Amino acid sequence: MPELPEVETVRRGLAARVVGRRVDKVEVGRERTVRRTSAREVIDGLTGATFLEARRRGKYLLLPLDTGDTVMVHLRMTGQLLLAPLGAARPPHTHVAMTLDDPAEELWFVDPRTFGEVVVFDPDHVAVELPELARLGVDPLADVLTVPALRGLLAKRRTRMKPLLLDQHVIAGIGNIYADEILHAARIHPERVASTLGRPHVARLHEAMHRILEASVRAGGSTLGDNQYVDLMGGEGSYQDDHRVYGRAGLPCLTCGRGVVHRIVSAGRSTHYCSWCQRRRSPQT
Ligand SMILES: [Zn+2]
Repeated sequence: MPELPEVETVRRGLAARVVGRRVDKVEVGRERTVRRTSAREVIDGLTGATFLEARRRGKYLLLPLDTGDTVMVHLRMTGQLLLAPLGAARPPHTHVAMTLDDPAEELWFVDPRTFGEVVVFDPDHVAVELPELARLGVDPLADVLTVPALRGLLAKRRTRMKPLLLDQHVIAGIGNIYADEILHAARIHPERVASTLGRPHVARLHEAMHRILEASVRAGGSTLGDNQYVDLMGGEGSYQDDHRVYGRAGLPCLTCGRGVVHRIVSAGRSTHYCSWCQRRRSPQT
């Protein structure tokens, strides 16, 4: 599932290649993709509109239009946004196709499992039209999330760290892969209770969030074996080559060389951690 680095990579592609262009025509195949409103609302909301900007909040792509409306795209499990020459054969599961002007190209929303969404909404009514967006937590790379702010966020929470990092209402954009990689880099056990973290832990967590998410954005995100995440031009990311614990259960830890990567289920999600780097009572802390 695309997380912050993958969605940010798609956003950068949209900013470079789609912003400033007008939508001449819209086709909606699968109604499930536009379930929040309707095919008619998405077609009417987009046809003739020009993309002004490409923003991201957590895993949400937000594209303000010159009509005053905004397009929200969420890739969920298997969604892809792809830019292709006009007339190119559309891949299976292309649920929304927009024809862009000058040069004529198509922007496709492709989604085999159809959990993803395309919504055209009025940003003045976000609380009604997209309530989960209004309740979204802070972006982990936002300037406002300083070390003291992160400490304040964690101090009152009796939640374990893995589910806390996955809770989009607290911090928005981190999913299963990066939660494991960030906790490993910060040497924090995934089942550690958030409120018990001391200052050094929080400082390490803050540093690890920035270091790992930014490195992954530079690498174009992670494309796993299923090849379902690709960028706007269909290119794969390479950050999977830098994963230190995710998907490495049973193998030696690449960081310490002493521990073994364990796999447990935490809050229903497959979780990887190093038995040495992330032992519960670490002498370094
Ligand atoms: Zn280790």
